[in-house]
Amino acid sequence: MLDAVIIGSGGAGLSAAIELGNYTDNFLLITRCALGQSNTMMAKGGIQIAVGANDSLRKHFNDSLAGGNYKNDEKLLHLMISKSRGILKWLNELGMDFDKMDDSYDLRSCTGISEKRVLSRGAETGSAIMKVLLDRIKRSPVNISINTSLEGIKKKKEYFLLKTCRNGRDGLIETKNVILCCGGRSNDFARQHKMGTTNQPCTSSGFYHSLRVLNLAMRDANSFQLHPACISLKGPLLGTPVPETLLSLGGMFYNKTGKKIADARSKRDILSKQLLKIIRNNMGIKEGLAYKSVYLDLRNVFVQNSVDSLKSFSNFLNKLSRSGVDPRTDLIPVAPMVHYQNGGIAVNSRCETSVPGIYAAGEITGGIHGTNRLMGNSLLDILVFGNIAGRACGKSITKRRIK
Ligand SMILES: Cc1cc2nc3c(=O)[nH]c(=O)nc-3n(C[C@H](O)[C@H](O)[C@H](O)COP(=O)(O)OP(=O)(O)OC[C@H]3O[C@@H](n4cnc5c(N)ncnc54)[C@H](O)[C@@H]3O)c2cc1C
Repeated sequence: MLDAVIIGSGGAGLSAAIELGNYTDNFLLITRCALGQSNTMMAKGGIQIAVGANDSLRKHFNDSLAGGNYKNDEKLLHLMISKSRGILKWLNELGMDFDKMDDSYDLRSCTGISEKRVLSRGAETGSAIMKVLLDRIKRSPVNISINTSLEGIKKKKEYFLLKTCRNGRDGLIETKNVILCCGGRSNDFARQHKMGTTNQPCTSSGFYHSLRVLNLAMRDANSFQLHPACISLKGPLLGTPVPETLLSLGGMFYNKTGKKIADARSKRDILSKQLLKIIRNNMGIKEGLAYKSVYLDLRNVFVQNSVDSLKSFSNFLNKLSRSGVDPRTDLIPVAPMVHYQNGGIAVNSRCETSVPGIYAAGEITGGIHGTNRLMGNSLLDILVFGNIAGRACGKSITKRRIK
């Protein structure tokens, strides 16, 4: 019988595994596709940590609360932000560097924040974080089963029976604890509503329904976030969100007749609603695109900012140019697409769910971000709460052993 099974190998799952490894090696991490294949790997913009000279944990808290429409679980939000500087230290110890300018962090902005607070690594922050987590995991004796999907969970008297599917073959695993780090279900939501999504195909899966059998308490379960500006060109860039750190430098949305619709620096939820309304009123564009869209104009950004200060976006901008749209001279067709699950499984400050023995961390949980997450707060959330879940589960295993 295993002490625990961690489900998912995004940032939350790997952080939980690193921490749980300090208490037991009798656990397994299962993940649906390849190790590390996740939304975390795709995160581009960065992570919010208040390290700027004029910034404070209080300002970060207040911004996040306003961003979340004051629907956040304040205790969890407070916990996340109080641990943020410790997470930066932890990442540094694991070998992670963020972009710097003259020896201090090159802090960026995004919508809804009162100080520059986003730490990034080029426009590939998620994959850089994943690299150091994966390096650490590979140096530890964590048992991992890839291409293994959780299909269902049954509660037995003293343990849980997990139904799994590995390379098409069904399996059963007995475990005393489960840590759910399976990310959000934006793919399912997008399919249901015939919308585009920014999410990795390997996230979201039907297992969510089987969780309902356990009657896990939920919080804002049906609150999803749309990213307002996702590339709608057919081809490899389809669904790629325009980095919010770039949008925060300016930019304007236009309808098909060239009428100004909105400033790109508005709040994600408000902006998405505005753009969808235009599209639904047939004032968007469609020809040659995967979804009905609007135009994003970033041309002014290139006039007002030096080439050097836009260096970290060069990868994204070059890919866009290769797709036939040069943002320096052209309007970019974009549409709001399903991006993030705001709500989810309710947890307490030890990441315990309403069913003893089941823990959850990362995008699968609800409460921390209210009904509208700020950019950069999810990468923080998954690392903070991934660690907490691994530690809480580890401590409960040790306690039971001592008894
Ligand atoms: C394109 C994009 C850009 C983003 N940019 C940013 C950003 O700049 N800053 C920021 O803070 N946030 C950003 N986000 C959001 C953030 O990346 C995610 O919310 C976060 O990484 C989720 O982490 P997670 O560990 O909870 O889940 P994921 O990273 O999604 O990992 C979930 C894991 O669970 C596995 N899994 C799922 N179902 C099962 C199952 N049934 N059985 C077994 N395994 C399963 C998946 O395969 C995956 O390995 C972005 C998201 C996207 C999609």
